[in-house]
Amino acid sequence: MTKLAVSIVVRSLEDALTLSESAKARGADLVEFRIDEWAFKGDELERLILDCPLASIVTCRPEFEGGVFPEDEEARRKVFEKIGEARPTYIDAELAAYLRADEFKQTIKQIVDHPGQVGNVGTGLILSSHDFETRPPDLLQRLEAMTATPACRVIKMAWRARSLRDNLEAFELIAASHKPTIAICMGEFGFPSRVLARKFGALLTFCGMDDSSIVAPGQVGLDTMFHRYRWKAIDGATKVYGVIGWPVEHSLSPHIHNAGFDATAYNGVYLPMPIPPEYEHFKATVGAWLDFDGLDFKGASVTIPHKENLIRFVKEEGGEVEELAERIGAANTLTVREDGSLYASNTDYAAALYAGCNAMEISPQKLKKRSVGVIGAGGAAKAVVAGFSHSGCELVIYNRTKKRAEELADTFADAAGALSVGSLDDLACSSHNIYVNCTPLGMWPNVNETPMEVWPKSVGKKTLAFDTVYNPGETRWLREARKRGCLTVSGVEMFVLQAAAQFELWTGEGAPADIFHSIVDMELEKRREAEG
Ligand code: NAP
Repeated sequence: MTKLAVSIVVRSLEDALTLSESAKARGADLVEFRIDEWAFKGDELERLILDCPLASIVTCRPEFEGGVFPEDEEARRKVFEKIGEARPTYIDAELAAYLRADEFKQTIKQIVDHPGQVGNVGTGLILSSHDFETRPPDLLQRLEAMTATPACRVIKMAWRARSLRDNLEAFELIAASHKPTIAICMGEFGFPSRVLARKFGALLTFCGMDDSSIVAPGQVGLDTMFHRYRWKAIDGATKVYGVIGWPVEHSLSPHIHNAGFDATAYNGVYLPMPIPPEYEHFKATVGAWLDFDGLDFKGASVTIPHKENLIRFVKEEGGEVEELAERIGAANTLTVREDGSLYASNTDYAAALYAGCNAMEISPQKLKKRSVGVIGAGGAAKAVVAGFSHSGCELVIYNRTKKRAEELADTFADAAGALSVGSLDDLACSSHNIYVNCTPLGMWPNVNETPMEVWPKSVGKKTLAFDTVYNPGETRWLREARKRGCLTVSGVEMFVLQAAAQFELWTGEGAPADIFHSIVDMELEKRREAEG
């Protein structure tokens, strides 16, 4: 089973041992000691290896391969002699250095096990290759050279991914290799290769002690691997999901969906999937992920700017697009059905509708003829208008740019309920049963903003105020609405409901919405604290 190795930058013997004790206690299988910048004295290196409670890899990386060892190769060779005396489980030496200098090669061969070695040394050689810029054009030649080197026990290839598609080549290398292999794509695009190393049977993958102490681009901390990305639950049959967008690094979706998989013991993992905005990128990446044997890519949440791209893609692939998603012109969910066919749907509009109905404790059928004031005419407003207008509500769309409100009203002109438009100035003298804020006004960090400086006189106990903003959970607008006696519902509810519907589409099981809720609240609180 693939192991999890924690990289520790060694600066002192005591600190490194304390960290390795902690790594063991937190569930790591190995530690990688990065000793590039450690001026160890006497027998400190041997004590480090001897007293380390876990199997260890020792790495002393030169600058030409992304490390910080300050001296020349001869000095580094002497460090390796010392490493040999300490007998760690593995040493990591770079293919380039190994092939370049005979003396270096001889030193390495003396300190590792290989067919020509006399006796058992107890140390294996990880022969490694790193490219921090791109995929090296001679990647396969490097792989061949490692395979052909008898002293090489483990192959390690690491390069900066240019897109999510590079991960697929890393998986291919692992599957095709005749030796235990570590294949890692670095950077944001390469993150799947770190988590899915376990699905494809890599020897190991690396992580940091925590998210802020990492040694390579794209690494995350131990707890993030274990808890957010379900490291221990991943096996060859794990189904892969993700959030497709640009950017996606701040998305809360991996937190909630992975927690949902945990809670329901569903064999899935959910990853961030950054794809640049153009349709060609979307098509090439999603197409390649779907076609890749053994990946089990079964679905995705799709966010800005790819909601239109998803509809186009699924149509081109001969899949089915939900009727209302097509009308809205945006889909937020890709589902790969049992028979392999694709389904694009939109869970936002039902989430908006049910967030409102649940707060009022009524069914959507009871909404008929109620009047709704929608503030804003962007993406969130589209979902709100789609959901409420099809339930027979009468809607007025208030937007800063009137033309955009008119276009939105035109899109749903044949819905069950009447649609008209107004300007933001008209809001103060409006009268609706339900108001929905679909602008970012009030969103963190601009928490003092509000879509309603002047409140309509009609607003009171019987009014529902629904804010699609979900950070913070209670905006200034909602606070003021509550003071006026209104029922209120926050964007967290809509966010959770749209995610819960996706979860159900993919797993066939009810989503643990209460867990989703508490995770969203907790993560948003953490972020606000971190941002001061
Ligand atoms: P969007 O497509 O960019 O639309 C933003 C809308 O707000 C536009 O109609 C825009 O008016 C209006 N607006 C922006 N700044 C304004 C200002 N200073 N004064 C008056 N109007 C302003 O954005 P979106 O995707 O709809 O997102 C809007 C909000 O909904 C965000 O807070 C987002 O987080 C939230 N949201 C929540 C969920 C959920 O699940 N809870 C889902 C999606 C979005 P113009 O047309 O004049 O530019």
